[in-house]
Amino acid sequence: MQPLLLQNLVEMTAHRDHLRLEVSVLSTLFKLHGVVRVRALELFAMPDGQHCVRARTWSQDGKVQSTDTEAFYDPQRVELSSMVELAQALRQRALIASAVQPDGQHVLWLPLWRQETAYHCLEIMQSSAFSPSRIDVIQGIFGVYHNYQSLLDYSERDALTGLLNRKTFDEQFLRLSLQEAQDSSAAQGALSDESPRQWLAAIDIDHFKRINDKFGHLYGDEVLILVANILRSSFDAKDRVFRFGGEEFVVLLRSVSLNNARKALERLRTAVESYEFPQVGRITISTGFAAMGSGAPVEILGQADQALYHAKDSGRNKTCFYGDMMQQGLVAPQMTNDDLELF
Ligand code: GH3
Ligand code: MG
Ligand code: MG
Repeated sequence: MQPLLLQNLVEMTAHRDHLRLEVSVLSTLFKLHGVVRVRALELFAMPDGQHCVRARTWSQDGKVQSTDTEAFYDPQRVELSSMVELAQALRQRALIASAVQPDGQHVLWLPLWRQETAYHCLEIMQSSAFSPSRIDVIQGIFGVYHNYQSLLDYSERDALTGLLNRKTFDEQFLRLSLQEAQDSSAAQGALSDESPRQWLAAIDIDHFKRINDKFGHLYGDEVLILVANILRSSFDAKDRVFRFGGEEFVVLLRSVSLNNARKALERLRTAVESYEFPQVGRITISTGFAAMGSGAPVEILGQADQALYHAKDSGRNKTCFYGDMMQQGLVAPQMTNDDLELF
């Protein structure tokens, strides 16, 4: 292997962050002789089910750069169907695909698959056809990238349910809280129940200990996996679902009005309530939620936690909103948060 390539592989695997790894792998590919453009494409579904593509990282003016706009809001996104050859390759579950563009450029695509879904794709463009030895080199780099992505994925997710883990929550929550604080101060108090905002929901399975005690830990684990599946299918791509620990989950609901956040969480509650769990039968969940942007992250967590406890206290199988509790005088507006503990 060429020393430069080896050096680049070392550089690639020095990163513990998906985006920096992506920038690094594209820089490596971009340095290959004759390559004119590289892109890392994100593949995702909009809430209406439409499949879209957007470039998260790309080469421009001799450099590799990336956007921090979320895929969902990216004005540059296009419908997957507009990239005919790529769409066809994905339908055929291809691991590699190529095409010649109308302007004569040769394009190679390498999709990343998670189960049955391609969620990411590297694209390499050059003016001459891809030789077998060039394809070998590209596939080698892609292999290292793919393995390393899986490792990063593994460290971000909870092994039992596959949901994002507590560590990832801490990282993302801090970032989103700062963003929301900026957005809400820009809105200057003009927020109504219909304004899209971000919400933090804390969800806890009711009487979970009884399930373990009565049916055993394995059935308890099975319930956690099934609840995680219901959670995943209850929210859309822009929302984030985490396993916070034990039988506790948190959801970050993004860009929805209060009324729609309430509806989504109620839908989740009834979906769990009406699900027939093998052996175990019926279970319920309690949820507390709070608006983001109205205080420090630890305060928002505390508010969602208080609302959750109110749901437990008022009989469980309920969804409570911290804002309602404030209006009803159920909480002291000023609370200490020195030793706040969630759940
Ligand atoms: P409440 O309605 O007040 O929430 O009651 P609860 O029984 O759900 O609450 P508690 O916090 O007392 O019990 C949580 C239980 O969750 C205790 C622990 O054994 C169990 N648990 C935590 N993590 C796991 C896990 O990974 N697998 C299984 N099977 N059980 C777990
Ligand atoms: Mg609990
Ligand atoms: Mg519980």
